[in-house]
Amino acid sequence: MAGFQVPSYQWMHNGRGSIIIRNSLRVIEAETLSEELRRHIEIGVEVGKGLLFEIVQEVDGFSICYHPEDFDGWKPSRSDLKWVVRRIRKVMKEFNIQAPHFALDLVPFGGLHVLNDPACCADKRKEIIYLRLPIDVIDGHLGVPSEIHEDWIFYHELMHAKDCLEGRFPSGGFINPNENPELAVITSLWHFSIEGRLEKNGKPHKSRQKVMEDEYFWTRTLEKSKMVEAEEGCWQRRIEPWPLKKFITKRLFQKLCNRLWGKETTFQELQSWLNDLAK
Ligand SMILES: [Zn+2]
Repeated sequence: MAGFQVPSYQWMHNGRGSIIIRNSLRVIEAETLSEELRRHIEIGVEVGKGLLFEIVQEVDGFSICYHPEDFDGWKPSRSDLKWVVRRIRKVMKEFNIQAPHFALDLVPFGGLHVLNDPACCADKRKEIIYLRLPIDVIDGHLGVPSEIHEDWIFYHELMHAKDCLEGRFPSGGFINPNENPELAVITSLWHFSIEGRLEKNGKPHKSRQKVMEDEYFWTRTLEKSKMVEAEEGCWQRRIEPWPLKKFITKRLFQKLCNRLWGKETTFQELQSWLNDLAK
């Protein structure tokens, strides 16, 4: 059978050519960056695209970004921000997670935010943890949406960062899942390991069955596609064959979920499992 390769992260690496400016959903070339954007941190990654984080406020050692226009003019109070920082620090302490800088990006829950925007990553130098936290404003105060268990979101996201900081996963930034469905599948499998470890450690977590169903459902929606220029200036999304897709069955996901639940894994291990499937 024709060899099928999950793209390695070296292959995926996009270098420093383009960056994502938060909230605008625009990818712009680094050279076109305005001089006005001086207070920023560049977050370089190994997989996908990095981002430029704009520092709006600093609170208790955390750099925080929010744009009042995204929240109908609302600005978080200092005590609200301190409350979030305290919660994050508590989880970091429990998991012994350390990084010199923390970049916290507050975005509106729901809305235009796309799933493939990174939710949490560590930069490739392991100096910065970036967390994109979707929030609601409740009675003028910052609130964690009721759809998400307050503590769970911090535990889940910081487990991603921990795996990157400890070298089990590469530092990952912006990835379009429909351009790289193999990487999206790896992330789904990674979630089996993460939620299982949260359960094992007595932390807030999703149930095994729920994670299995959610990840399987999400994986089935993936398509591989590419933008192609059909005629001059006219770009179209073209669906491409994706060899791995036919091997992804509910049974396989259940098997991998059971195998990974509560265990540490690595990007390379998941990648080689997927490669073996198509052999
Ligand atoms: Zn996740």
